[in-house]
Formats: sequence, C-alpha cells, structure tokens
Amino acid sequence: DLDAAWALRWALLAQEAVSRHRIELMELDQAIGDGDHGENMDRGFTAVGARLEESAPPATPSEVLRFVATTLMSTVGGAAGPLYGTAFLRGAAACLPGEGQTRHALGGAEVATVLEAGLAGIVARGKAAPGEKTMVDAWAPAVRAARAAADAGATPADVLAAAAEAAETGAQDTEPMIATKGRASYLGPRSAGHRDPGAVSSALLLRAAADAAV
Ligand code: ADP
Ligand code: MG
Ligand code: MG
Repeated sequence: DLDAAWALRWALLAQEAVSRHRIELMELDQAIGDGDHGENMDRGFTAVGARLEESAPPATPSEVLRFVATTLMSTVGGAAGPLYGTAFLRGAAACLPGEGQTRHALGGAEVATVLEAGLAGIVARGKAAPGEKTMVDAWAPAVRAARAAADAGATPADVLAAAAEAAETGAQDTEPMIATKGRASYLGPRSAGHRDPGAVSSALLLRAAADAAV
C-alpha cells in the first residue's frame, strides 16, 4: 500500500517532470494563454522540493499532500495555483484514516477516493465541466479509470497507472476543443488546435504518482 515514502517520491518525481517539461508547458500556454504555465508550475514544484529538504519530512501521505497544497497555493499563482492547491488539500483530507483506523497507507480503493476528492476540489474552485478544455479534461477520465481499476481489484500502483494513462489520453483529447473557461476562452474558436497546458501538466503529475508507486 502507498505510504508517506510513496507520497514523498511522488512529490520529487513531479518536480522533475515539471522541470523537464517547463518549455513545453510554456509553449502550450503561449499558444492559448499568457505563456506562464511552465514557469508557474516549475516555481511551485521547485519550492516543494526545496522546502522538503529544509524541514523534517511529513510522516503520512495526507501530510505530504497538504504540504504540497499549501506550497503550491503560495508559489504557483495564476489560475493553476488555487486549482491545484484545492485539489491537493481535498486529496489530503480524503487520505486521512477513518475513525478507528490508524494505518497511514492507501489501498487501491482509497487511492481512487483521493483522486476523486482532487477532481471535486478542482471543479468546486473552477466550475469547469468536461469538454471545456481545462485540466478537468485530464482529471475526469483519470478518476473514472482509477475507480474502474479499483473496483476490479487492482493494486494501488495499477490504479495510479490506469489514472495516468487516462489523463494522458484526456490531455491529448483537449487539442481540438474550444476553450470556454479560463484565459484560453478569450480566443474562442482560435483556441482549437492546441492541447490545454493545465491538462498536460495534470497528466504529468498523475504519471509521476504512478511512477512513484512502482
Ligand atoms: P493563468 O491562466 O492565470 O496564466 P496558468 O497558465 O498557470 O494560469 O494555468 C492555466 C491552466 O489553468 C489552463 O490550462 C487550465 O487547464 C486551467 N484552468 C483555467 N481556468 C480553469 C477553470 N475554471 N477550471 C479548471 N481549470 C482551469
Ligand atoms: Mg498562463
Ligand atoms: Mg498567468
């Protein structure tokens, strides 16, 4: 099952992935936004890595996610900062052990629940529905795939792998969409023909979560 060590590995792999894809995220956001998404995400996850080195590491998955949430909220800015911050805060709350439980590790069904909570946070904050060319278009299929895998008895690692694959397909599928939420919506039909930067960064984060689990 997935413990605090998994969550810490995930945070560091996310930092690496965002840094490696900084230019790509920047170019995607230049095409349909203001070009800062790569910079925003790289600044946020660099701060996550730096602050993790400075302090005693959080001891549970919930504490790691809460730590990532508060760091992203104070460093990422733009639309994505509060959206990811809310996602990770809700995810942190969802992975607290229930009453009478003391185990600080997540099984397959619990991982699916954490991802569902993350998506619910993004939707609560940004009010986007699927098809509006936002990060929701990566998260919604990811959450569906995660729940289906968990229901089929998959391991937590396989639940995350299913989520990551669905998120990557979902991000790809934003290319022909016309944005109706966020900055890209100002372009109207001219937003079609490019993948949504937030959907692409969401797929990177979910892939990092899956890679951290194997
Ligand atoms: P900004 O647009 O303020 O510069 P970023 O460039 O960091 O912020 O993030 C842009 C991303 O935020 C978009 O690609 C999209 O995925 C996401 N986004 C924007 N508005 C919403 C919303 N209302 N709901 C969900 N996601 C959104
Ligand atoms: Mg931007
Ligand atoms: Mg901006």
